[in-house]
Amino acid sequence: MIDLRSDTVTKPTPEMRKAIAEAEVGDDVFGEDPTVNRLQEMVAEKLGKEAALFVPSGTMGNQVCIKVLTQPGDEIICEANTHCYNFEAGGVAFNSGVQPRPLEGNRGVITAEQVEAAIRPDDEHCPRTRVVTIENTHNQAGGVVFPLEEIKRIRQVADRHGLAMHLDGARLWNAAVASGIEPATWAQYFDTVSVCLSKGLGAPVGSVIASTAERIAEARRVRKVLGAGMRQVGILAAAGVYALEHHVDRLAEDHRRARRLAEAVAELPGFDIDLDTVQTNIVVIRLERPEWSVPGVVAALKEQGVLVVPFGPRKIRAVTHLWISDADIDTAIRAFQHVAAS
Ligand SMILES: *Cc1c(COP(=O)(O)O)cnc(C)c1O
Repeated sequence: MIDLRSDTVTKPTPEMRKAIAEAEVGDDVFGEDPTVNRLQEMVAEKLGKEAALFVPSGTMGNQVCIKVLTQPGDEIICEANTHCYNFEAGGVAFNSGVQPRPLEGNRGVITAEQVEAAIRPDDEHCPRTRVVTIENTHNQAGGVVFPLEEIKRIRQVADRHGLAMHLDGARLWNAAVASGIEPATWAQYFDTVSVCLSKGLGAPVGSVIASTAERIAEARRVRKVLGAGMRQVGILAAAGVYALEHHVDRLAEDHRRARRLAEAVAELPGFDIDLDTVQTNIVVIRLERPEWSVPGVVAALKEQGVLVVPFGPRKIRAVTHLWISDADIDTAIRAFQHVAAS
């Protein structure tokens, strides 16, 4: 099976398993796991932040950051199709008691003008606007890189109004490789940043958040409240260290393969792809034939040995990753050709 459902399906490579097996560990609740400490220092440095904290998932990364930046009753501005609004099980309401203010973006991108217009007046009837969250790359939009220029403009608005900014950088590594702009250059506009190790980087588990030392100390407390103070977790952090050392630059291959798949499938009758959005490792494909259903097309591709996921009422998604080769892309293209001809 060629598994294009997500870049989270990767299993550790033999070399990564070796790094895991050989990891030096200690009790991380006592701050004594050298491998966790190394991972946190590495990520803090790459993101140009004072400190960082290992967390079990990207969802927890976002949740802890929002909790650190807000008080109950606050409002956070986000794009309407972002992960933290749609796919974290109502977490910001549950964990932080805040309400999201979703803004409709263009291919996932919201503007400084939209943000400014959504900021609440200083009025006792209104929630307090506290945070702007940005997702980069934007998953639902198809792996779109959020333009750095717009982030700078949003930061200016945030500064004028005393708002914090959070970056959901689950795929910030992809954004950095695709744009040639360093992770720290993106991160400098944000008060808190969350990055995933278990997406394109291919680690089995884990995300890291980064911020000031003071906020990360608070984040450690919040992580503890959520029950995620972990012990000899260097076992997992070792995979993250290995991934950061060996699996970042190769993301360019995933991007090249996603592009080739997208260009081939876009030519086929019945499939429509907004090629402008195919900037990284995600391909969102719209089904144009009214007689086709999403489950039907997913099943037909599976019969041809290719797994994709439903991605909305008329869409499916394919994602390239560490375990997808050029030959796999050839096979996937043939599978789409077969479905288009049926
Ligand atoms: C995957 C993802 C996350 C976090 O997901 P987990 O499954 O909790 O690790 C957060 N934001 C975006 C944009 C994602 O794609």
